[in-house]
Amino acid sequence: MSHAFKPSWIESTAENLGIIPKLPDKHPEHDLKPVESESPDLANFPAYEDWDDWAEYEAKDWATGKTKRYSLVPTVCFNCEAGCGLLAYMDKETGEVRKFEGNPHHPGSRGRNCAKGPATINQINDTDRILHPLKRKGKRGEGGWERIGWDQVLDEIAAEIRKAIQEERKDEVVYHVGRPGHEGYIERVLNAWGVDGHNSHTNICSAGARLGYAIWHGADRPAPDYANAKFILLISSHLEAGHYFNPHAQRIIEAKNEGAKIAVMDIRLSNTASRADYWMPTRPGTEAAVLLAVAKVMLDEGIYNETFLKEWTNWQDWLKADHSDAEPIFENFIEKLREHYADYTPEFAEAESGVPAKTVIEVARRIGAAGPQFAAHVWRSAASGNLGGWQVARCLHFLNVLSGSVGTFGGTLPNSWGKFHPSVPNPAPPHKTWNELHFPDEYPLSHYEMSFLLPHFLKEGRGKLAVYFTRVFNPVWTYPDGFSWIEALRDPKLIGLHAALTPTWNETAFFADYVLPVGHASERHDLVSYETHSGLWIGFRQPVHREFLRRQGKPVTFTYEANPGEVWEEDEFWIELSWRVDPDGSLGIRKYFESPYRADEKMTIDEYYQYIFERVPGLPEVAEKEGISALEYMQRHGAYAVENDNYKRYLAKVNGTIAASGLVEKGGEVVGVKAESGKRVGFPTPSRKQELYSQTLVDWKWPEYALPAYIKSHVHESEMDRNAGEFPLVPTYRLPTLIHSRSTNAKWLMEIANRNPLWMHTSDAKRLGYTTGDLVRVNTEIGHFVARVWATEAVRPGTLACSHHLGRWRRPQDPIANRWGTSLVDLKEEAPGQWRMRKKEGVQIKKSSDPDSSRIFWEDTGVHQNITFPVHPDPQSGMHCWHQKVRLEKAQPDDEYGDVFVDTNKSMVIYRKWLEKTRPAPGPDNLRRPLWLKRPLRPETSLFYLDPKNESNK
Ligand code: SF4
Repeated sequence: MSHAFKPSWIESTAENLGIIPKLPDKHPEHDLKPVESESPDLANFPAYEDWDDWAEYEAKDWATGKTKRYSLVPTVCFNCEAGCGLLAYMDKETGEVRKFEGNPHHPGSRGRNCAKGPATINQINDTDRILHPLKRKGKRGEGGWERIGWDQVLDEIAAEIRKAIQEERKDEVVYHVGRPGHEGYIERVLNAWGVDGHNSHTNICSAGARLGYAIWHGADRPAPDYANAKFILLISSHLEAGHYFNPHAQRIIEAKNEGAKIAVMDIRLSNTASRADYWMPTRPGTEAAVLLAVAKVMLDEGIYNETFLKEWTNWQDWLKADHSDAEPIFENFIEKLREHYADYTPEFAEAESGVPAKTVIEVARRIGAAGPQFAAHVWRSAASGNLGGWQVARCLHFLNVLSGSVGTFGGTLPNSWGKFHPSVPNPAPPHKTWNELHFPDEYPLSHYEMSFLLPHFLKEGRGKLAVYFTRVFNPVWTYPDGFSWIEALRDPKLIGLHAALTPTWNETAFFADYVLPVGHASERHDLVSYETHSGLWIGFRQPVHREFLRRQGKPVTFTYEANPGEVWEEDEFWIELSWRVDPDGSLGIRKYFESPYRADEKMTIDEYYQYIFERVPGLPEVAEKEGISALEYMQRHGAYAVENDNYKRYLAKVNGTIAASGLVEKGGEVVGVKAESGKRVGFPTPSRKQELYSQTLVDWKWPEYALPAYIKSHVHESEMDRNAGEFPLVPTYRLPTLIHSRSTNAKWLMEIANRNPLWMHTSDAKRLGYTTGDLVRVNTEIGHFVARVWATEAVRPGTLACSHHLGRWRRPQDPIANRWGTSLVDLKEEAPGQWRMRKKEGVQIKKSSDPDSSRIFWEDTGVHQNITFPVHPDPQSGMHCWHQKVRLEKAQPDDEYGDVFVDTNKSMVIYRKWLEKTRPAPGPDNLRRPLWLKRPLRPETSLFYLDPKNESNK
């Protein structure tokens, strides 16, 4: 292909002035492939046929027609949960990744990414990254490290695990995940070891919303079909600006372009709120009151879906339980429901929340008019900020139920319909232990593990850990009360061995015994599947260097052979570790790590994924059409749409006998429910219906919450002494271009966002005498931090807000790393539990092989606010209630920007105060937890009973 070439006048001028070299008369003949695509919408993507040999101009040498040849290798982004597709552009000469762009074959992201996807190139080229396994030298936390080999790591850790298993200390082996995203892999490993060792970050993130949804219909999160919605309601602190950002945002905009209207409840005028038709900045924690007022309007005006309500809610159960005197007919149910919510007038909602009654009515009518095409979502935000925040999700879903938009085209689907569950090779049976450090009796309904209370449990002697893996997880910085984490992590009597599996240094890894470098998005295998829209897809995160070498006919055995340095991937790590835990098979563990294709041989990672992909419905057939295996299809395409839509799954027909209860039974198990249209699978709840009335909450000692309810938050206005300078602080939102612990090594991202000022409404700032940039001391229940004020009209008056994304730090003795966004700090424990941190130096990259180091214009790295927060475990959901009641005061003479002070003795007092709010197990039948609610790494059923040896107590 040749290009006739005529320089523009700018180019001619630049040529004449000698600013650029003399341009050729015409571009040389070259063999650039014409840009084609399977889809005309995606015309700017290289055609799939060219992915093995794609040529394009060099960005800096285009004028001379210089081209570069690439192999395009798909993988999946690792920088948030959405799992968008990426294409690594691999230089065919050097084998290096030159850039990441979107993968047009990915059904969730459809070729698009947010800023964090392409910034993966910064992460892999980070000059300070950890390239080899390290072992602590000196005391834990002192900062000394030595390089060791993977063999030594595996042998030493395997020995400790084997000992714990042999000595029946199975609860002492724990894997704690920060960034999850490999479907079922670790569960398979932990079951094989027979340990109840899964811990997650869920209850500092989404446990609140999860319980609210689970109580309704088993599935614990929503999957809105935004693209087809007519009305969208988002309760958002960062929802479409961070969580599932790209797949959701693109579909919301599509709906908006088609005329959909959007309402956003957010105390900030966030990116999401700024695109909305209705911005509803509630007083923090009053969202459920507004939602119930919307429900009341819908009930009073008759703008609800009678067919869905009548057939698919358990309204009869409620009448029977609470109104047995009323004839059990639908009309009576509606009448009683209206009576039940009679107090939730729009005027009440306005008084409580500050949202005008007129807006409440208008939004209710919009939802009624949208009917089944009403999409709604809450994530983090109010559900994770407030005491009783789970009721926000429950009240929001109430509106889906009233409008009949559950599982519909344009409505809101249960997440479980859009999540793929692979068939894995050699699965182990459920383990037989119950780890009370994760699921203590006080929180029988928690979603999920009480992970943020781990240090408090350890410190008060509830147990200890022999081997503790933190996996891409940084609780010292991300969690509340980080100094309590440091106190637990530094104590070998509480945590015997701590191995940090991490792609980059973090504040928690400083307190590890082993720091084990694991890969970024392009350096690891993971099977990924998320409910980004109506449909079901799988994505294949794969080590692109390894795949590149395979394509060149130079396959490697282990991923670290292809990755930079000795950066490994966890999938292979766990196989090798398990093999060494049980080298002769006598513990019964090794067999689960043997090849499904070669008897008695160790499974390879290719075999693991080959086994899974051969069993994905339709995938082998599609691959065969291309003349390749299912595994190779995924290595080449990176993603596969298992289903293109998944509406109304609850109407699937089932066979069985109809019991007196109306449930359909088969083989002694409930498989469905009798509906007007016949026997249907329904929803995975005890009634198989949407549970407006929750017998579970009644049985587990919370009868006051049998129906969706409004619980006053711990930061409710009535809790505030305004004369004393008290404010609710909303710390739950993220900045859309940042990742929790893994963006300080991404220079592009830190360039975009590098500060987290304290948002304060201009009226408050004026009243209190602050202007933007003023230092302010923010006092929490256990200490304080010193921040800078940002006076703005983009926040609700009377409310403060500060992003949780910034304030990363390192001490002088720690390895130099993450320099684009960490401050050097002086950290002192002045007396037992009295911790003080002061910044010594902001961003200053003095020496680096990256030439961009010299172009840094920012010095600020923000303030670490989370570490000054005590734990606030919600008594039902177990969610950490992030919002804080803080007392604001002007900075004191000795205060400096970024100062932090915390007293962990006070932390323990606050922890115990919240513990008193609980109503512990047992529940009915001496159960620790309702059998039907989800639980990660579910043990054998007998373990759900407090005395598993004596199931007769049920
Ligand atoms: S939304 Fe952004 S960070 Fe999240 S997976 Fe997609 S590209 Fe990556």
